[in-house]
Amino acid sequence: MVKRREFFIFFLLFLLGLFFVYTYGEITKAKAKVFESIEKHEIVQISDVLEKLQKRIVSHALAQNIKDLPTFFESKEHAKECEEILSMMLASDVKYAYILYKDDQEKFRFLLDASKTDKANFNQKFDVNTPEYKLLYTTKKPQIIKQQNVENLYITYLHPIIKDGEVVALFNIDFTTDIKAIILESIKPIETLFTLLAVFIVIFMAMTLIQIFHYFITRKKIFTDPLTKTFNRNYLEEISTILNLENYSLAMLDLDKFKLINDTYGHKAGDHILSNVSKIVKSSIRESDILIRYGGEEFLLLINNRENIKRDICERVRHNISKEKFVYDGNEINVTVSIGLHSNPSLEKNLQEAIKKADKMLYEAKKGGRNRIIVYDEKKESTDSSSSSSKDLAFVKEALDDDRVTCYYQPIYNHKTGEIFKYEALVRIIGEDGKIIPPYQFLPQIKHTNMHYKLTQRILALVFEKFKTNQKQVSINISFTDLNNHDIEETIVQALHADDHLASRVTFEILESDEVDDIELFKQKIQLLHSLKAKVSIDDFGSGYSNFKRIIDTEANYLKIDGSLIKNIHINSKDFKVVRSIVHFALQSNMQTIAEFVHSKEVYDKLLLLDIDYMQGYYIAEPKSELALNEELFHSSSS
Ligand code: GH3
Ligand code: MG
Ligand code: MG
Repeated sequence: MVKRREFFIFFLLFLLGLFFVYTYGEITKAKAKVFESIEKHEIVQISDVLEKLQKRIVSHALAQNIKDLPTFFESKEHAKECEEILSMMLASDVKYAYILYKDDQEKFRFLLDASKTDKANFNQKFDVNTPEYKLLYTTKKPQIIKQQNVENLYITYLHPIIKDGEVVALFNIDFTTDIKAIILESIKPIETLFTLLAVFIVIFMAMTLIQIFHYFITRKKIFTDPLTKTFNRNYLEEISTILNLENYSLAMLDLDKFKLINDTYGHKAGDHILSNVSKIVKSSIRESDILIRYGGEEFLLLINNRENIKRDICERVRHNISKEKFVYDGNEINVTVSIGLHSNPSLEKNLQEAIKKADKMLYEAKKGGRNRIIVYDEKKESTDSSSSSSKDLAFVKEALDDDRVTCYYQPIYNHKTGEIFKYEALVRIIGEDGKIIPPYQFLPQIKHTNMHYKLTQRILALVFEKFKTNQKQVSINISFTDLNNHDIEETIVQALHADDHLASRVTFEILESDEVDDIELFKQKIQLLHSLKAKVSIDDFGSGYSNFKRIIDTEANYLKIDGSLIKNIHINSKDFKVVRSIVHFALQSNMQTIAEFVHSKEVYDKLLLLDIDYMQGYYIAEPKSELALNEELFHSSSS
């Protein structure tokens, strides 16, 4: 995708090139002109003298009634006089000056030679090998011969001696190459100026070229993932505004159980596989398809809709990866990929929404047993993606990749003992600028996608790791969908089964909402957690769909009363009554109660009138990255 800026640079370079060629031409032309004019000037000076001399010779001859010039020059007196005048022309740049005539046999012979060296005798033969001599006779005009082959000679100037309208002889003046040196010397400043200009232009062009080259190299670097040599997410961002989604289908690819490969064979083996998988994908797609490493072991594939073979291409990718035996360090490793495909991304609001749908399908593919393709079916899906997304999937993916997912911990307070009972782990993302981003900005956007599942896995790992070594109790939020995910269940079972001590200090806060469509399954999951010795808390009770009967059946340990019932309890007597009956109900059902959203002293005091077991809220303590101590409670600035 060439942008305007590159066009501009190319245009500029093109202009510069033209300018250079033009200037170079002009320099050459100017040099030739200067040469010519200086030559002319020299010749004009000499031809003036020669013109006078020829007139003098002719008039002398006439006066003395001498018919032909050989006779005239036979006279020592005439010869000497002419020689004196002619020899005055001899200088460093004029080497030879002589007079020639054509005899009856059309042979050229010397009449007089005024030269200082290589002097010829009267009537000595002169060999003519250029046409200018004869031309002078026919045109009766001076001729200039540019010497090429005669050593040290540069120009020969021929000037006719005319008597009675006929050429009877000619002056031959030979300029040496010295004149060229003189001319060159005189035009040197101009030439230097032009040379400097040319050098400047060449340097400038070279610099511009280097910059352009550099620009393309960095551009390539910015948009290429170094490990897989595919495009990276920067590229996706770059093209997202100009990409016509109508031309593409969109597939999310995620390698299956890749963490296991890393854990078993090492990170280097993982890298080796990643780079080879990308080669396989590239060889399975067409030139017009775009492969982007979305992050980690996830790829985004934009499949060109030119032919209706998107499903086939996905199948080809899946098949080619699964049949490949990757070898690293002598180990044969098999890899499979799960793919979520959206065939009509242009139906979505934007690219992000399309990616989200594809990721949902990827989630289904994982849930369905991996190594498979699930295609998005718009008829089956309800439109639940209307939530205006402030942060998208890529944002969470980036945070996961960069290890910027973290947990904050908010104390749950036992007002009867005056001590912290436990901590609720609350997910946060640390923005690239270091700002802490709360979950409402990204959790709703990734609901039911594969990314949500990855985030939950990360949170579990973080919390288990932190509480493995201390004595405190912790509450982890988990959705029913998460609990139904086989991999998440496995993670929980593995971590808690192996560590009773940890298990007994973990509470899972589960939202009892419309999402819980299968109450039997819900009960089963809670029983499983109980069997691991973990505790269960029903989160946000009293909001929306809460169902007393169902809650009793679940045999949860705690009931967390929804903040919407707590926050105005000091002024709203109806809320107070509802909370009072929930507390009563919990007591009857053997559940302890927690009031959340205790944001002020007024709310806190009001709650003391009820038989609530624990309280949580900004009035007591805000969530912090570190576990608060008892003495740090009730110091919060906000109320
Ligand atoms: P699933 O089938 O559900 O996708 O399981 P998974 O193990 O593939 O998924 P998960 O997201 O739990 O783990 C992804 C792993 O990929 C974790 C991370 O260390 C690894 N990974 C991410 N980027 C790279 C990388 O550049 N090189 C290597 N070697 N591993 C990477
Ligand atoms: Mg994976
Ligand atoms: Mg909660």
